[in-house]
Amino acid sequence: MSKRKNTTSSIPSKTPKHWSLGLIASMKDPNSIIKNTEKVVVIKDKYPKAKVHYLVLPHEEINSIYKLNKSHISLLEEFGNIFKELKEENESELRAGFHAIPSMQRMHMHVISTDMISTSLKTKIHWNSFCTKFFIPYDELLQELKDIGNIRKIPSELHTSLMKTPLQCNQCSFKPKNMPELKDHLLKHQLL
Ligand code: AMP
Ligand code: ZN
Repeated sequence: MSKRKNTTSSIPSKTPKHWSLGLIASMKDPNSIIKNTEKVVVIKDKYPKAKVHYLVLPHEEINSIYKLNKSHISLLEEFGNIFKELKEENESELRAGFHAIPSMQRMHMHVISTDMISTSLKTKIHWNSFCTKFFIPYDELLQELKDIGNIRKIPSELHTSLMKTPLQCNQCSFKPKNMPELKDHLLKHQLL
């Protein structure tokens, strides 16, 4: 990434911001927001990986889970309250958690339904980022924060191996050969 500073005044003010800042823009977009409290905002995930997929973000400028410390425990507890509210408001079964290595800035918690049915769910990496240990459940993250006061980064070898995990249905023991087979199979769970 270039560290060069842009000192010219000829750059139009609408120069696109880096893609990793997209959530910060969506936090201000009334069409994205579904809840807004004193401490947190809930937005719709722009590329949902299931029928219900929200992101819970703090107003406080916390870049990622790696910046959390014990002073953020009450904020995390607020995330838990929001998750409870969302479960009460939705008929789908919901999970809450964090990607071990997030790609977008501003710390965020995923709240996602277990159906995993969405046209935006395309790749094995998408699947494994929600259906392996790469997805840190909310309770586990809060416990780690309470126990050791910070969130440890996973080693890059573990990241690589989690992304290579063979496909496995999240609702039964079926092991699909590829993503089209997995997506067909997920639809069958809807009929049960
Ligand atoms: P991650 O950083 O890997 O935990 O996930 C980032 C999430 O943000 C993904 O689920 C994306 O689909 C979602 N996303 C990407 N860009 C936007 C955006 N501009 N507004 C809302 N959600 C987004
Ligand atoms: Zn299954």
